[in-house]
Amino acid sequence: MKKNSQLNLHSVLNHLTDMIILCSTEFEVIESNKAADIILGGGNSIVGVKCHKLLHDKTEPCSDCPLEDTISSGRLKHLNYFNENIDEYFEERTHPIIEDDCQQGFVLICRNVTEIREIEDQFAQAKKMAAIGQISSGVAHDFSNVIMGILGRIRLMRMLQNVPEIEEQLELLEQSAQDGAQTVRRMQEFTRAWKKTAFVDINLLELIEDVIALTRPKWHESTKSEGRLVKIICDIEEDIYIKGNTSELHNAFTNIIFNAVDAMPDGGFISFKGQQKNNQVLLRVQDTGTGMTEEIRHKIFDPFFTTKGSDGNGLGMSEVHGVIKRHSGTIEVESEIGDGTTFFLKFPVHIPEKEAEEVEPEVSSLQVLVIDDQDFILETLKDVLEEMGHGFTGFISPVEALKNFSPNRYDVIITDLEMPIMNGQEFAEKIKAIDPAIPIILLSGWYIDLKDDKTLSKVIDFTLPKPFTVKDIQKLFVKVVGSKNTEAK
Ligand code: ADP
Ligand code: MG
Repeated sequence: MKKNSQLNLHSVLNHLTDMIILCSTEFEVIESNKAADIILGGGNSIVGVKCHKLLHDKTEPCSDCPLEDTISSGRLKHLNYFNENIDEYFEERTHPIIEDDCQQGFVLICRNVTEIREIEDQFAQAKKMAAIGQISSGVAHDFSNVIMGILGRIRLMRMLQNVPEIEEQLELLEQSAQDGAQTVRRMQEFTRAWKKTAFVDINLLELIEDVIALTRPKWHESTKSEGRLVKIICDIEEDIYIKGNTSELHNAFTNIIFNAVDAMPDGGFISFKGQQKNNQVLLRVQDTGTGMTEEIRHKIFDPFFTTKGSDGNGLGMSEVHGVIKRHSGTIEVESEIGDGTTFFLKFPVHIPEKEAEEVEPEVSSLQVLVIDDQDFILETLKDVLEEMGHGFTGFISPVEALKNFSPNRYDVIITDLEMPIMNGQEFAEKIKAIDPAIPIILLSGWYIDLKDDKTLSKVIDFTLPKPFTVKDIQKLFVKVVGSKNTEAK
């Protein structure tokens, strides 16, 4: 520091942003720094004012004043409080000044800790999100197994029976399970365990008709039991296609229907009108509900915005917005109190490629060895594979499967990844040591990209993510046979 510097302790105190106040034992301000004068005195000196008046606008010393504690314990004390007038958090500390064994006064240091608290909150929030991420990725993994079991059974029932009414119900049931699988995938996507969402050709009329059928319990059955009548009218041109993800769109339109039903306490109409104009698909969804104010209309796409108190979570419309955006679409709202609500949606037109009569190449009967530590997955695969005309041998334990294995006995192996004692990768390594040519398919609830995993791709030829469809297996087996043929050449 320069010798002729004007700095002294008092000027240092005046440069601090913490408020520093010297008080008498009668709680009266004797001296204060600049920050205290600015914040508490509006720029004027606060000398002579009582500290409880200044800080807490009280005529008597505060009951929770840290000073008494400080004096009795001889220790520095903290007091944290929220100042409602300026909406900020403060931390107060009192230091006693004792000379000749006698309390002469005290120094009060008061600091605005709002920003620190916000950072701490953000940190806690980040930790919480990380924990939720971990939990949900585990839940997603377990659920994909459960859904796979359900889907397997539904598919089998569809293969076995021939009654159109049951077929229709099974189809809806399968779609619900597929939606569940998609939710699981979204959870995995959230935790970055899953990277792909498939976009397929979607016929708008079929999509909306499916959603209307799937949501019928909410708009028809439950409203009927409450004595209000809700009707849905669907007027959509037949040959309109968009490219998209069925489950995501199902969710979005389900939210729109649910909100419309919620907005019609006395019943009413929901109408869908869809048409194609130039290069755009236009879809209008209208309800005859209560409508909403301008203010609410501005907020409906905000996450967590709800007017339904504890009955709502405010996530429906923000999800709708996200889904429509991912589909390169737009959504606009018009609403008037008492006059219902109309959503205008636009999507780019999609022209599906003419499918070259999709004939699945026939795959001759294969002998399949399956290893999974979960009984019901083995059972599902047994049913599905046998129904497809393949031979099935299953083991719960990879160790037992190894004992049973010999070259040329099987055409292909399907193994689970996570198993106690020996995991799918170790099992595959041991098998490939015996028979390097046998194709091995890895079954897993986690998303695995073989291109990203050099060690795994040495012993694993294909992956089959859970939950899978019969079509997935058919397609995979075509590849398996193809790879065998190329190898044989
Ligand atoms: P939630 O349904 O859980 O409240 P949403 O995100 O689905 O959350 O909707 C947010 C808010 O938007 C609703 O609480 C409601 O006030 C308003 N809203 C959405 N759709 C409609 C509608 N069709 N008619 C009237 N208000 C609606
Ligand atoms: Mg909602």
